[in-house]
Amino acid sequence: MCATEAIERLARCERPRVVVGDGVLSRLGELCGELGVSRALLVSDGGLVDAGHTQKGEQALSSAGIEVTVFTEVGSNPTASHAQACAQAASNVGADLLVALGGGSAMDTAKGATFLLAGGGQMEDYWGRGKGRGQFLPLVMVPTTAGTGSETQSFALITRERDGRKMACGDDQAVPRLVLLDPELTASAPPDVVAHAGLDCLTHAVETAVTSCATPQSLQLSHLAFQLVCSSFSEALQTGALDARRNMLMAASLAGLAIEGSMLGAAHALANPLTARVGLNHGRAVATMLPHVVRFNAQDPEAASGYEALCRSAAIEGGAEGLAGRIEAWLDEAGVPRGLGSAGIVETDLGPLAEAASQEWTGGFNPRPVDTASLQGILQSAL
Ligand SMILES: [Zn+2]
Repeated sequence: MCATEAIERLARCERPRVVVGDGVLSRLGELCGELGVSRALLVSDGGLVDAGHTQKGEQALSSAGIEVTVFTEVGSNPTASHAQACAQAASNVGADLLVALGGGSAMDTAKGATFLLAGGGQMEDYWGRGKGRGQFLPLVMVPTTAGTGSETQSFALITRERDGRKMACGDDQAVPRLVLLDPELTASAPPDVVAHAGLDCLTHAVETAVTSCATPQSLQLSHLAFQLVCSSFSEALQTGALDARRNMLMAASLAGLAIEGSMLGAAHALANPLTARVGLNHGRAVATMLPHVVRFNAQDPEAASGYEALCRSAAIEGGAEGLAGRIEAWLDEAGVPRGLGSAGIVETDLGPLAEAASQEWTGGFNPRPVDTASLQGILQSAL
């Protein structure tokens, strides 16, 4: 199955229904109308208002007879307060639909709000899987970056304010009903956003290809996402060509679906404290750790063969070492420093960072078991 076939198959799925096309944002109202809704909260951000994308979404909804209220109080790492404010805004206008038009932050904020609108309480009540209560409002997602894959996932990543921990709150009801992939929307993304989002997508494809709970279906999705990254990430970075941006949007959605079956691994466990404590961008943090995690995991024969299968699917030679080298080449192309030292991290930081990483849920799905000592070893190799 090729990536285009996979996306076409998705288009026939009940949830999420994925519609891909240049300029497909103009169909937002018509497609949302099929959900039988009348009042939408459109969750977006200031940068997208400046680029004019938010207004296009608003017009598309209005022209289909759907009342729209725009909400833009979205932070770069959405917190429980952002989700709470979004839920309050939706409640104030009696919204029967939440539309997120933006990057991972807008999508996670809207998704987090659906938990609160349906079940009340606090975001922390929903940390984990399957804790949703009540009837969720339909969610529609229009990603403007190719990275997080939140648009095809049942998880909202919401930061807990008091300690910066990322709470993964997942429920089957939180899977969006409709996803529009419009590559014209990614044209306005600044180069560092394209780089960080693409690195996150790459890391999702690689981590999901070897986790302890991966399934034949999720592996197929990981491989398809990885093939698209191999064919198009460099082009998206260098020229921003429309075809490359379309492929990267599809890669992000496919990798997001892979996460549903495979979960993630040690690169994400190690990266979350780097974001919470040092302020490192998520995509940069996961991809900086990824080559070191690949080398660590490749000591496990099963993980090594998982990496080999992934490499074969994209004609990369050299097995796990070849893969680690390719990831480092992408970091260079993206202008992201390889070492943690460039982020101001010193030797004495590693112990506390490893301790925090050992508490992260995603480490439990890593193919090779990790503990504080082994995580510190991986951080040391990345210093
Ligand atoms: Zn990620």
